[in-house]
Amino acid sequence: MKKIVLHACCAPCASYPIKKLILDNYKPVVFFYNPNIFPYKEYKIRKDELKLYCQKNDIEFYEDDYNIKEFYRLTKGFEAEPEKGARCAICFNLRLKRTAEFALKNNIEYFTTTLSVSPHKDFNMILEQGKIIENEIGIKFLEYNFKKQDGFKISRQIAKENNMYFQQYCGCEFSIRRNK
Ligand code: SF4
Repeated sequence: MKKIVLHACCAPCASYPIKKLILDNYKPVVFFYNPNIFPYKEYKIRKDELKLYCQKNDIEFYEDDYNIKEFYRLTKGFEAEPEKGARCAICFNLRLKRTAEFALKNNIEYFTTTLSVSPHKDFNMILEQGKIIENEIGIKFLEYNFKKQDGFKISRQIAKENNMYFQQYCGCEFSIRRNK
């Protein structure tokens, strides 16, 4: 089985991609790097839930810094953008770049992300950022669109079976405002 670094935003979204990658003969290494999440309490709930799910399923789990200042620095001027807008491309780039750097450091050939499981995310935007980073860092981005083949529905079923916490907004403080 070949290792792949799976960038993961939360346990419900990671559940199906982990299953799918294993079925496809990969060994996922889950990487939690999401400095976009606000507030820290929400970040910790999402992180702890995912860590627990990985422990239960014998999946390697790593967490990187919660450097929210970097998220704010990069998205300055894009606060009013809607979801799926320009701020999200910056947010994907930030998270996926760190994921590819982690893969490079650990001699893992591939990376991908759970973000594509969500119907609220623009897959082409994820793909575009993944490919930019693949060219920049030299780690192959696997083009998984996890929402296909009922991926989103299955992820929700697994989350329910495991009594997982479901977040009410995407992650950043600007996405909270948009939901109000
Ligand atoms: S709405 Fe979601 S994807 Fe877009 S910038 Fe905020 S946290 Fe990132």
